[in-house]
Amino acid sequence: MKVGVLALQGAFREHEKLLAACGVEPVQIRKPQHLDQISALVIPGGESTTIGKLMNEFKLFEPVVKLGREGLPVFGTCAGLILLARDIAGSEQPRIGLMDICVERNAFGRQVDSFEASLDIPVIGRQPFRAVFIRAPYILETSSGVEVLARFQEKIVFARQGRLLAAAFHPELTGDLRVHQYFLEKCIQAS
Ligand code: GLN
Repeated sequence: MKVGVLALQGAFREHEKLLAACGVEPVQIRKPQHLDQISALVIPGGESTTIGKLMNEFKLFEPVVKLGREGLPVFGTCAGLILLARDIAGSEQPRIGLMDICVERNAFGRQVDSFEASLDIPVIGRQPFRAVFIRAPYILETSSGVEVLARFQEKIVFARQGRLLAAAFHPELTGDLRVHQYFLEKCIQAS
C-alpha cells in the first residue's frame, strides 16, 4: 500500500520513516500526479502558512481537497492539523478544511514553545504516548462527528472524524509507531 506524505516543507522525512516501519510504502507528494495511486495522505508539521502557500504554488490544493472530499484518509500533524481544520481562530489563511474542528495556532504560548508530555490515548493502548509539541496548536471546538482521542491540560490535542485524523503533537519524532498504526488501521478501514 502506498501512503503519500506531503513533502513541501516540514517534518516529512520522519513520517516517511515511520510509515516504512509500519510496512507501507511512503510516497513524497510534490506534484499533483504524485497523488495517483495513494491510499492515504499524511500532512506533516512545519509552518501551516508556508505549506499552504507552497500547496498553492505547486497546484496541490484543488486535487488534495477533491480527493479528501471523495474519501481519501488524511492524517494531519501539527501544521497538518491546522491545514485540515475548517476554522482557524483569527486567521483567513488557506486550508484544506476537511475536518469539522476549530483550531487555535501556537496555542500553548511562547514560554513553552516546545515540550514533551506523556499522553493517555486509550484507543492505542494503555501505555502512555510520549508526545512532542512544537509551537503546537490545539483544538478549540469539535462538531458532533468528531471523536476526541486525547487531551493535554484539558485541551484537545488528538481527534478523529471517520477517515480523518489530526494530532497537535509530532508522533513521527519518537519512534513509537502506535499513532501511525492507528491511522493506517482505523482511518483507512473507515474510508
Ligand atoms: N506553529 C505552526 C503553525 O502555525 C505549527 C508548528 C508545527 O507544525 N510544529 O503552522
